Amino acid sequence: MGGTFDPIHFGHLVAASEVAHQFGLAEVWFVPTGNPWQKHDQQVSSAEDRYLMTVIATAADARFSVSRVDVDRPGPTYTADTLKELRQSLPEPTDLYFITGADALADILTWERTDEVRELAYLIGVTRPGHVLADPGVAPGRTTLFEVPALAISSTDCRERVARGAPIDYLVPAGVASYIAKRGMYRRVTTP
Ligand code: NAP
Repeated sequence: MGGTFDPIHFGHLVAASEVAHQFGLAEVWFVPTGNPWQKHDQQVSSAEDRYLMTVIATAADARFSVSRVDVDRPGPTYTADTLKELRQSLPEPTDLYFITGADALADILTWERTDEVRELAYLIGVTRPGHVLADPGVAPGRTTLFEVPALAISSTDCRERVARGAPIDYLVPAGVASYIAKRGMYRRVTTP
């Protein structure tokens, strides 16, 4: 499961759990982005902070782990590179599924080494209820869209809540809320 996770919230965790259940996945590896090159106009928290919050959020679930592949690989984060690296670390035969937000998936499939991405993994785009995909959306073929009601929670909303002093209890795991408070993160809104 790829994402910026700035911060990780219960919507991400429910999405991972639901997709794992529906598709019979043995494990879900959360892969925080290293350098989200398409967000040069936005302030994104450090990769280490986002990685640590993801570790805290997933620690209690035996099916979940966190990979540093994107955090440790220098340069822009491209999903084709992520999947190639993960594929090399897995025994054959292992089916690989790449889960992420449906709009992010549409971007990947529009811009970057699409054939390679499609060859390396089955693709699952998770959506919020009632969400209309940005044009041109996700083309079919080894791609499934999956609606997750808990994705009504969003990272943007969590950041904005912290910035205006509103609680994020029950939107993010308690350990993540404590980490955000301890590090003084999101006290100013970081969206453009
Ligand atoms: P994003 O543009 O920040 O997110 C787009 C939408 O998808 C947001 O609504 C976001 O909600 C949601 N989303 C993102 N990750 C999600 C997840 N794991 N589960 C559920 N919803 C999710 O997307 P991003 O975080 O930068 O990128 C997502 C993944 O796509 C990463 O693995 C990234 O490396 C990859 N990506 C690759 C390329 C490329 O290879 N060229 C380009 C773009 C993205 P929240 O803000 O609430 O998470």
